[in-house]
Amino acid sequence: MPRSNRPSRGKKAAEPIEDLNLNTLRMGVRRTEFKRGVEYTVQTSVGANAEDTKTWMCPYCNLQIAKGLSHLVAFDSVRGVETRRHFHTACWSSFQGPLL
Ligand SMILES: [Zn+2]
Repeated sequence: MPRSNRPSRGKKAAEPIEDLNLNTLRMGVRRTEFKRGVEYTVQTSVGANAEDTKTWMCPYCNLQIAKGLSHLVAFDSVRGVETRRHFHTACWSSFQGPLL
């Protein structure tokens, strides 16, 4: 992502990009990512929802995702939600597919 070095016009319009990203994560925005040419739909999850009794295993590290932990839900966009898996945020970054 190119960094814009726009001169501020009078007002200080220097919104830190990091904060914006954090807000986006918290809102559970859906996005699309490509890993090795495969398109995935990725959605953030704050972990605290109606499915309170449910826990998930991260398919990358094979560890349980702790309750209430913010994580990612990803599925193969072509094969659909059947392939949906919950990942630790860092694990998803390292994951290169495919989803089983
Ligand atoms: Zn993991």
